Amino acid sequence: MAGNPFSTIERIAPSEALRRQQRGAVLIDVRDDHERAAGKPAGAIGVALASLTERIGKIAFDRNAEVLLSCASGARSLRAAATLHDLGYTHVASIDGGFLRWNAEGLPVDSGVLDADAAERYSRHLLLPEVGVAGQQKLSNARVALIGAGGLGSPSALYLAAAGVGTLTLIDDDKVDKSNLQRQVLHTDDRVGTSKTESARITLNALNPRVRIETHEQRLRAANVEALIRDHDVVVDGADNFPTRYLLSAACLRLHIPLVYGAVHRFTGQVSVFDARRTDSPCYRCLFPEPPNAEDAPNCAEAGVLGVLPGIIGLLQANEAIKLLLGIGRPLIGRLLCFDALGAAFRELRLPRDPTCPGCGANAQFAGYEDVARICASA
Ligand SMILES: [Zn+2]
Repeated sequence: MAGNPFSTIERIAPSEALRRQQRGAVLIDVRDDHERAAGKPAGAIGVALASLTERIGKIAFDRNAEVLLSCASGARSLRAAATLHDLGYTHVASIDGGFLRWNAEGLPVDSGVLDADAAERYSRHLLLPEVGVAGQQKLSNARVALIGAGGLGSPSALYLAAAGVGTLTLIDDDKVDKSNLQRQVLHTDDRVGTSKTESARITLNALNPRVRIETHEQRLRAANVEALIRDHDVVVDGADNFPTRYLLSAACLRLHIPLVYGAVHRFTGQVSVFDARRTDSPCYRCLFPEPPNAEDAPNCAEAGVLGVLPGIIGLLQANEAIKLLLGIGRPLIGRLLCFDALGAAFRELRLPRDPTCPGCGANAQFAGYEDVARICASA
């Protein structure tokens, strides 16, 4: 066709491309990184079309070298071939039908770092340079422990599972109660009376069957806290009582695991990150040195809570957990983020490390988890 800038470009079948590749031609897959995450023609060099002009000189220095271009279906590869032609490359060809046809014809394929299901499921993550294939692999290798499959744990667990966190460990000894359903969206009406960890596992695996859900239908205690959270990358605190929070804080300090804290009360909530790997990070007891007495600190069952509030706070916790796993952004370390649902207002308080903190201060003494549990019992 006259005037078609692509009319001079040679178009070849995948099998012909393979033959030429075996003879020494360079094969370049010009799809984006996230598209190649699920695989590419064997031996092909992956260079996204947008960066082809800049990188071609390093791949095929000799402009008389034979260069074959492949994409998803054959359109972009034709444009890529025309671009190279304009740059003075004399032996360029575009593969008709692209990787779709290459794959359908059973030609050799380099399997990608992600399988096809993962590449499609996480495609919106893969598009973000801050996540990408490497970040998605970090998430899939990650282990996150969630304490409590309740109001805070529900939104956290749903989004961590959806995001592709490889292993979620759920620790909760409660059974689903009808009064939970107003906010604990992991559970369903027909699962009232079943264990929360099992109910959560069903929901999370229905959302993302790739995620490994480990369940512990146990209450966190002095005797089991280290064993339950050891070997996790992040702990998300969705507890509803002080003994659990003090135990978690002590164990995360000792095991150097970052702890994503969240709490709700009636219409207000707060979030922070205590990262024991960092010397500048406060711990939970920098915020609450000693547990309040029971009358001053009623839980949801006693004080009530707006159902949507733990949804908001739990999602902020999931956001912090994912940032910590990916190593991106600015974590809420040394900052306490407070939310007022009625005023629809966020307020951030500075939360420096307290040198006199009984948990992490210079003179802090750890006398065992039984001792930590005891300070709560006596409050
Ligand atoms: Zn501290």
